[in-house]
Amino acid sequence: MASEYVTFSDLRTAAYCPRKLYYRRTHEDDPDPPSRVDAIRDLERRYEELLAAPAGTLADEPIAVPSVDYRETLAATRERLADEGEWDRLRDPRDRNRLVTGRDCRGVVHKVLADPIEPVLVSSGAPPDRGVWESQSVQAVAAAKALAWEHEQPVERAWLEYPAYGVVRSVSTTVRRTARYRRALRTVRELDGPPPRTTNRSKCESCEYAGECGVRTRTLRSLLGFGRS
Ligand code: SF4
Repeated sequence: MASEYVTFSDLRTAAYCPRKLYYRRTHEDDPDPPSRVDAIRDLERRYEELLAAPAGTLADEPIAVPSVDYRETLAATRERLADEGEWDRLRDPRDRNRLVTGRDCRGVVHKVLADPIEPVLVSSGAPPDRGVWESQSVQAVAAAKALAWEHEQPVERAWLEYPAYGVVRSVSTTVRRTARYRRALRTVRELDGPPPRTTNRSKCESCEYAGECGVRTRTLRSLLGFGRS
């Protein structure tokens, strides 16, 4: 039944912090993605144009680093992926924004690549120093599993693009990542009442429920007038 499918976004949130998922579920006012998110995602379709444009013209784009750095990073990304024979596939997917339904999960995959079938998720945020964030890795595995289910073939890799930074990374659906995905799946299905707070309090800094959760973030402390001593 459709109601039994776990959404990619619930999975991602549960992997980030189960308590955050609890708050999200109890708030009906989940906003639509802001237009800035759309503007950043749109950069992904314009990499060649951005690389060809004079650096000064990039200042008006929703990029997160100085224009010169952005161009350098994006050019290096293109070169690396072209060498690996991946750039053209990533530029010319077989599908975009496709709703994919697997055995357990459902959600929108921003791009579906062909030969082999692989999902691409386009993030409006920043990449970590290496690899991809754990919550995104869980979503990437969910997308790969759902595509595998639909196409009745293994999907062993997924991609994360960070267009505001010109960074593209891939993750394999390893046993370890799959185990994390299954753990998040269980968390979503068994959510019943507020779970404990995450022990990684750095996550709370950007959490919109920090006040309700009762976690003292640096931002909250400074608003309350507790400056650094
Ligand atoms: S403030 Fe921290 S512990 Fe509370 S819901 Fe947000 S991420 Fe989780």
